[in-house]
Amino acid sequence: MNVNNPARSNIGAIDAAHHLHPFSDMKKLNADGTRIITRAEGVHIFDNQGRKYLDGFAGLWCVNVGYGRTEITDAVMRQMNELPYYNTFFGTTTEPATLLAEKIISHAGPRFSHVFFTGSGSEANDTWFRMARVYWKALGHPEKTVVISRRNGYHGSTVAGASLGGMKWMHEQGNLPIPGIVHIGQPYWYVEGGDLSPEEFGLKCAQELEEKILEIGADKVAAFVAEPIQGAGGVIIPPATYWPEISRICKKYDILLVNDEVICGFGRLGSWFGHQHYGLEPDLCPVAKGLSSGYLPIGAVLVSKRVADVMINEVGDFNHGFTYSGHPVCAAAALENLRIIEDEKLVERVKTDTGPYFAKGWASLAEHEVVGEAVSVGLMGGLQLTADKATRRRYAKPEDAGVAVRNHCLANGLVLRATNDRMLASPPLIITRDQIDEMIAKLRAGLDHLRDTMAR
Ligand SMILES: *Cc1c(COP(=O)(O)O)cnc(C)c1O
Repeated sequence: MNVNNPARSNIGAIDAAHHLHPFSDMKKLNADGTRIITRAEGVHIFDNQGRKYLDGFAGLWCVNVGYGRTEITDAVMRQMNELPYYNTFFGTTTEPATLLAEKIISHAGPRFSHVFFTGSGSEANDTWFRMARVYWKALGHPEKTVVISRRNGYHGSTVAGASLGGMKWMHEQGNLPIPGIVHIGQPYWYVEGGDLSPEEFGLKCAQELEEKILEIGADKVAAFVAEPIQGAGGVIIPPATYWPEISRICKKYDILLVNDEVICGFGRLGSWFGHQHYGLEPDLCPVAKGLSSGYLPIGAVLVSKRVADVMINEVGDFNHGFTYSGHPVCAAAALENLRIIEDEKLVERVKTDTGPYFAKGWASLAEHEVVGEAVSVGLMGGLQLTADKATRRRYAKPEDAGVAVRNHCLANGLVLRATNDRMLASPPLIITRDQIDEMIAKLRAGLDHLRDTMAR
């Protein structure tokens, strides 16, 4: 923004007067004041006070190639000047949209053949939710409509997205979930595993899916949806027994498997997609975030051959789409972003270099007195705070513990996120070893602060 803008010194007051923020307690935000981020470069963001932060969260899990990539802004400008907008409805397309579909499919593997574009991850979830039902109806199973998802999963904020998600505090606002969506448990061993081993617990959670299918009737269940690793829920990495059993159950009862790859897609786990890391065979995958590294909003649904064949040959019109489906400028940004990920071999780098290096530093935090577990895959880490390591007892107010660590890190120039008493990390994929060291050191200082200031 123009440095000479007279309103600049006044942004906080204007914001309080006119801007309702997402997922924010506005009274508290207005009292505390909002941080105003003015520029960014590499893995760093800067606020209007001139403070510099290492962005350990890549914006919101999305800035995979880091900030300040002029290759992307140049590509955007070129596309803006050539064709700022045209749609993909009614028999037309644009070059960037079509080439992006090809590029995404080239990394998704032979199981997938097509892409449906959306403006966001939430819209991608709304899209497959309808597509799954349309698919079964076209095959002569109009009653196969129920979608099973998980408590504490996150699939966005639209009505279908929030309903598919398993956040109780979201359901409570707006009378959700909508009918036809049911939830089973999550593989969150640390807090919910009780006396079971992680492996036993993972199996038990997966088998809840089978019980639910049998309760509803397999002839009524359209799909099961889950993130390969829960993101917003707390970077919850399922025990090794979980995914193989889920796969077995989906195949046995002919239920579509939907992997929400909005976070895990595009390199986060050291694989192009999270389902590849776990060897899963999903039928539909919503993606967004890392698709454009957040430079412009764009999402998509990866559609397997199995589903695409029916959509193309049996369905006729799919009465669904967004004005900005395949927006040419967003698609140009995404294409350039994926080119960078390819050329700089960021997926391989996460898998063989920075991911393992991060894993070692992150895991070393598990020795800290207030840490129950510190787990990661690729550049996605979850760290559980605890008041007592031996019994896995939580702090009296778990969310206060997380906020205390987060705020200490913030004051020290590190952005991390807290979900209750779990610290989440998801840095840009370009992060260096030195920057990883800095991240771990600052988080360790935050943990010391928690140990020294909050009663256990
Ligand atoms: C962020 C997120 C979404 C929603 O994406 P938006 O672009 O915010 O609509 C959906 N699923 C998962 C797993 C996410 O992390």
